[in-house]
Amino acid sequence: MDYYTLIGFAPETEAPEDLGTLAVPAHDTALFLDFDGTLVDIAETPSAVTVSARDGLLLDQLGRRHANAVAIISGRNLHEIEKFLQDFSGTISGGHGAELRHAGEHFPGIDCDFERLEHIKNAVMEFAIIDPRVIAEDKSFGIVLHFRQHPELESKVHDFLACLVNEEDGFELQSAKMAFEIKPKGISKAKAIERIMQFEEFAGRTILFAGDDETDETAFGWVNAHGGLSVKIGDGPTIAQYRTASPTTLKKWLRSQPDASRREA
Ligand SMILES: [Mg+2]
Repeated sequence: MDYYTLIGFAPETEAPEDLGTLAVPAHDTALFLDFDGTLVDIAETPSAVTVSARDGLLLDQLGRRHANAVAIISGRNLHEIEKFLQDFSGTISGGHGAELRHAGEHFPGIDCDFERLEHIKNAVMEFAIIDPRVIAEDKSFGIVLHFRQHPELESKVHDFLACLVNEEDGFELQSAKMAFEIKPKGISKAKAIERIMQFEEFAGRTILFAGDDETDETAFGWVNAHGGLSVKIGDGPTIAQYRTASPTTLKKWLRSQPDASRREA
Protein backbone atom coordinates (compact mmCIF):
# COMPACT_ATOMS: atom_id res chain seq x y z
CA MET A 1 0.00 0.00 0.00
CA ASP A 2 1.44 3.39 -0.91
CA TYR A 3 1.47 6.42 1.35
CA TYR A 4 -1.49 8.21 -0.26
CA THR A 5 -3.72 5.14 -0.16
CA LEU A 6 -2.79 4.75 3.49
CA ILE A 7 -3.75 8.30 4.45
CA GLY A 8 -6.87 8.21 2.29
CA PHE A 9 -6.29 10.78 -0.46
CA ALA A 10 -4.33 11.11 -3.64
CA PRO A 11 -1.81 13.86 -4.42
CA GLU A 12 -3.28 16.67 -6.51
CA THR A 13 -0.94 16.25 -9.43
CA GLU A 14 0.32 12.98 -10.80
CA ALA A 15 3.82 12.53 -12.08
CA PRO A 16 4.01 13.37 -15.79
CA GLU A 17 4.12 10.43 -18.17
CA ASP A 18 7.01 9.86 -20.53
CA LEU A 19 6.39 11.72 -23.81
CA GLY A 20 7.47 8.62 -25.72
CA THR A 21 4.16 6.98 -24.78
CA LEU A 22 2.14 9.69 -26.59
CA ALA A 23 1.14 9.71 -30.27
CA VAL A 24 -0.74 12.68 -31.69
CA PRO A 25 -2.76 12.85 -34.92
CA ALA A 26 -1.26 15.75 -36.91
CA HIS A 27 -4.52 16.63 -38.66
CA ASP A 28 -6.19 17.29 -35.31
CA THR A 29 -3.36 18.84 -33.27
CA ALA A 30 -2.12 22.42 -32.98
CA LEU A 31 1.52 22.62 -31.89
CA PHE A 32 2.76 25.38 -29.59
CA LEU A 33 6.49 25.27 -28.94
CA ASP A 34 8.49 27.44 -26.59
CA PHE A 35 11.90 28.42 -28.02
CA ASP A 36 14.75 28.51 -25.44
CA GLY A 37 15.22 25.20 -23.64
CA THR A 38 12.47 23.59 -25.73
CA LEU A 39 13.27 23.91 -29.43
CA VAL A 40 16.92 24.84 -28.81
CA ASP A 41 19.34 24.18 -25.95
CA ILE A 42 19.89 26.92 -23.38
CA ALA A 43 23.26 28.61 -23.92
CA GLU A 44 25.59 30.54 -21.62
CA THR A 45 24.03 33.84 -22.76
CA PRO A 46 20.67 34.45 -24.49
CA SER A 47 22.36 35.52 -27.74
CA ALA A 48 24.55 32.40 -27.91
CA VAL A 49 21.80 29.86 -28.72
CA THR A 50 22.10 28.12 -32.06
CA VAL A 51 19.43 26.95 -34.47
CA SER A 52 20.63 24.19 -36.78
CA ALA A 53 19.60 23.68 -40.40
CA ARG A 54 17.95 20.48 -39.18
CA ASP A 55 15.79 22.49 -36.74
CA GLY A 56 14.64 24.65 -39.64
CA LEU A 57 13.77 21.57 -41.68
CA LEU A 58 11.82 20.16 -38.74
CA LEU A 59 9.70 23.32 -38.47
CA ASP A 60 9.00 23.12 -42.23
CA GLN A 61 7.98 19.51 -41.88
CA LEU A 62 5.74 20.24 -38.87
CA GLY A 63 4.10 23.13 -40.73
CA ARG A 64 3.16 20.78 -43.56
CA ARG A 65 1.99 17.96 -41.29
CA HIS A 66 -0.14 20.20 -39.12
CA ALA A 67 -1.45 22.34 -42.01
CA ASN A 68 0.29 25.42 -40.51
CA ALA A 69 -1.20 24.95 -37.05
CA VAL A 70 2.28 25.42 -35.54
CA ALA A 71 3.30 28.38 -33.39
CA ILE A 72 6.43 29.42 -31.51
CA ILE A 73 5.53 30.83 -28.08
CA SER A 74 8.52 32.61 -26.55
CA GLY A 75 9.35 35.03 -23.79
CA ARG A 76 11.84 36.71 -26.13
CA ASN A 77 11.11 39.67 -28.34
CA LEU A 78 9.39 38.75 -31.56
CA HIS A 79 12.17 40.26 -33.69
CA GLU A 80 14.77 38.08 -31.96
CA ILE A 81 12.80 34.92 -32.71
CA GLU A 82 12.41 36.09 -36.30
CA LYS A 83 16.19 36.51 -36.50
CA PHE A 84 16.82 33.01 -35.16
CA LEU A 85 14.12 31.43 -37.35
CA GLN A 86 14.50 33.35 -40.61
CA ASP A 87 13.01 30.62 -42.77
CA PHE A 88 10.00 30.02 -40.54
CA SER A 89 6.95 31.83 -41.90
CA GLY A 90 4.45 30.53 -39.34
CA THR A 91 2.87 32.06 -36.26
CA ILE A 92 5.09 33.50 -33.51
CA SER A 93 4.19 34.96 -30.14
CA GLY A 94 6.96 37.01 -28.50
CA GLY A 95 7.41 38.77 -25.16
CA HIS A 96 5.31 36.19 -23.23
CA GLY A 97 2.29 36.98 -25.35
CA ALA A 98 2.91 40.72 -25.74
CA GLU A 99 3.65 40.50 -29.47
CA LEU A 100 2.14 38.37 -32.19
CA ARG A 101 3.00 37.57 -35.79
CA HIS A 102 0.42 35.76 -37.89
CA ALA A 103 0.20 35.39 -41.68
CA GLY A 104 3.09 37.86 -42.05
CA GLU A 105 1.36 40.60 -40.01
CA HIS A 106 2.52 41.93 -36.63
CA PHE A 107 0.10 42.71 -33.81
CA PRO A 108 0.73 44.27 -30.40
CA GLY A 109 -0.53 42.06 -27.58
CA ILE A 110 -0.79 44.58 -24.77
CA ASP A 111 -1.52 48.16 -23.75
CA CYS A 112 0.67 49.43 -20.90
CA ASP A 113 2.35 52.52 -19.42
CA PHE A 114 5.28 52.65 -21.84
CA GLU A 115 6.91 55.66 -20.16
CA ARG A 116 7.04 53.87 -16.82
CA LEU A 117 8.34 50.74 -18.55
CA GLU A 118 11.22 52.78 -20.03
CA HIS A 119 12.17 54.05 -16.54
CA ILE A 120 12.13 50.50 -15.16
CA LYS A 121 14.23 49.25 -18.08
CA ASN A 122 16.80 52.03 -17.63
CA ALA A 123 17.16 51.23 -13.93
CA VAL A 124 17.70 47.55 -14.68
CA MET A 125 20.25 48.33 -17.44
CA GLU A 126 22.17 50.53 -15.01
CA PHE A 127 22.16 47.72 -12.43
CA ALA A 128 23.76 45.36 -14.99
CA ILE A 129 26.42 47.95 -15.79
CA ILE A 130 27.23 48.44 -12.11
CA ASP A 131 27.32 44.68 -11.48
CA PRO A 132 28.60 42.94 -14.65
CA ARG A 133 28.00 39.49 -13.13
CA VAL A 134 24.36 39.86 -14.21
CA ILE A 135 23.02 40.31 -17.75
CA ALA A 136 20.09 42.56 -18.61
CA GLU A 137 17.98 41.49 -21.57
CA ASP A 138 15.81 44.22 -23.06
CA LYS A 139 12.44 43.00 -24.29
CA SER A 140 10.21 45.42 -26.08
CA PHE A 141 7.52 44.81 -23.46
CA GLY A 142 9.64 43.97 -20.45
CA ILE A 143 13.12 43.48 -19.06
CA VAL A 144 14.94 40.40 -17.79
CA LEU A 145 17.86 40.23 -15.41
CA HIS A 146 19.84 36.98 -15.80
CA PHE A 147 22.13 35.62 -13.08
CA ARG A 148 22.90 32.36 -14.91
CA GLN A 149 26.66 32.54 -14.31
CA HIS A 150 26.23 33.59 -10.66
CA PRO A 151 23.41 31.67 -8.95
CA GLU A 152 24.46 33.16 -5.61
CA LEU A 153 23.03 36.51 -6.79
CA GLU A 154 19.44 35.24 -6.94
CA SER A 155 18.13 37.06 -3.88
CA LYS A 156 20.04 40.24 -4.70
CA VAL A 157 18.53 40.35 -8.21
CA HIS A 158 15.08 39.53 -6.89
CA ASP A 159 15.15 42.20 -4.19
CA PHE A 160 16.35 44.87 -6.58
CA LEU A 161 13.65 44.15 -9.16
CA ALA A 162 10.98 43.87 -6.45
CA CYS A 163 11.77 47.48 -5.52
CA LEU A 164 10.89 48.61 -9.05
CA VAL A 165 7.36 47.22 -9.21
CA ASN A 166 4.31 47.63 -7.02
CA GLU A 167 0.73 46.41 -7.06
CA GLU A 168 -0.75 49.49 -8.71
CA ASP A 169 1.64 50.30 -11.53
CA GLY A 170 0.50 47.61 -13.96
CA PHE A 171 3.75 45.63 -13.93
CA GLU A 172 4.70 42.39 -12.25
CA LEU A 173 7.79 40.44 -11.31
CA GLN A 174 8.07 36.92 -12.67
CA SER A 175 10.60 34.23 -11.91
CA ALA A 176 12.29 32.44 -14.84
CA LYS A 177 15.17 30.01 -15.27
CA MET A 178 18.14 31.67 -13.51
CA ALA A 179 16.52 35.03 -14.13
CA PHE A 180 13.76 37.38 -13.03
CA GLU A 181 11.62 39.40 -15.36
CA ILE A 182 9.47 42.51 -15.09
CA LYS A 183 6.57 42.58 -17.53
CA PRO A 184 3.16 44.18 -17.87
CA LYS A 185 0.43 42.45 -15.89
CA GLY A 186 -2.17 40.47 -17.76
CA ILE A 187 -0.06 39.18 -20.63
CA SER A 188 0.82 35.52 -20.63
CA LYS A 189 1.69 32.63 -22.88
CA ALA A 190 -1.73 31.15 -22.03
CA LYS A 191 -3.45 34.29 -23.35
CA ALA A 192 -1.31 34.09 -26.49
CA ILE A 193 -2.29 30.46 -27.07
CA GLU A 194 -5.95 31.32 -26.49
CA ARG A 195 -5.74 34.14 -29.04
CA ILE A 196 -3.91 32.07 -31.65
CA MET A 197 -6.47 29.26 -31.33
CA GLN A 198 -9.00 31.65 -32.85
CA PHE A 199 -7.13 31.70 -36.17
CA GLU A 200 -8.69 29.48 -38.80
CA GLU A 201 -5.85 26.96 -39.20
CA PHE A 202 -5.73 26.40 -35.41
CA ALA A 203 -9.43 26.49 -34.49
CA GLY A 204 -10.99 23.26 -33.24
CA ARG A 205 -7.71 21.39 -32.89
CA THR A 206 -6.29 19.83 -29.72
CA ILE A 207 -3.56 22.03 -28.25
CA LEU A 208 -0.14 20.56 -27.55
CA PHE A 209 2.14 22.99 -25.71
CA ALA A 210 5.78 22.17 -24.90
CA GLY A 211 7.88 24.34 -22.58
CA ASP A 212 10.77 24.05 -20.14
CA ASP A 213 10.52 26.97 -17.78
CA GLU A 214 8.70 27.98 -14.61
CA THR A 215 7.03 30.67 -16.71
CA ASP A 216 5.46 27.88 -18.81
CA GLU A 217 3.65 26.32 -15.83
CA THR A 218 0.65 28.68 -15.91
CA ALA A 219 0.27 27.95 -19.62
CA PHE A 220 0.43 24.20 -18.83
CA GLY A 221 -2.41 24.74 -16.34
CA TRP A 222 -4.51 26.60 -18.91
CA VAL A 223 -3.83 23.99 -21.60
CA ASN A 224 -4.71 21.14 -19.20
CA ALA A 225 -7.99 22.87 -18.31
CA HIS A 226 -8.85 23.26 -21.99
CA GLY A 227 -8.49 19.63 -22.98
CA GLY A 228 -4.99 20.05 -24.38
CA LEU A 229 -1.70 18.24 -23.91
CA SER A 230 1.20 19.74 -21.96
CA VAL A 231 4.84 18.70 -22.21
CA LYS A 232 7.59 19.70 -19.79
CA ILE A 233 11.15 19.64 -21.10
CA GLY A 234 13.75 18.68 -18.50
CA ASP A 235 13.71 18.22 -14.73
CA GLY A 236 11.83 20.07 -12.05
CA PRO A 237 8.36 20.11 -10.58
CA THR A 238 5.60 20.54 -13.14
CA ILE A 239 1.87 20.25 -13.71
CA ALA A 240 2.46 19.14 -17.31
CA GLN A 241 0.99 15.79 -18.33
CA TYR A 242 4.10 14.59 -20.16
CA ARG A 243 7.82 15.02 -19.74
CA THR A 244 10.82 14.60 -21.99
CA ALA A 245 14.48 15.06 -21.12
CA SER A 246 15.72 17.78 -23.47
CA PRO A 247 15.16 19.74 -26.71
CA THR A 248 16.92 16.86 -28.49
CA THR A 249 14.48 14.23 -27.21
CA LEU A 250 11.50 16.52 -27.95
CA LYS A 251 12.65 16.96 -31.56
CA LYS A 252 13.27 13.24 -31.89
CA TRP A 253 9.70 12.61 -30.71
CA LEU A 254 8.29 15.25 -33.09
CA ARG A 255 10.15 13.63 -36.02
CA SER A 256 8.82 10.21 -35.03
CA GLN A 257 5.16 11.22 -35.19
CA PRO A 258 3.13 9.75 -38.06
CA ASP A 259 3.06 11.98 -41.13
CA ALA A 260 -0.64 12.25 -42.02
CA SER A 261 0.15 14.64 -44.90
CA ARG A 262 1.85 11.77 -46.71
CA ARG A 263 -1.02 9.37 -46.23
CA GLU A 264 -2.73 8.41 -49.47
CA ALA A 265 -6.30 9.66 -49.79
MG1 LIG B 1 11.97 28.22 -22.46
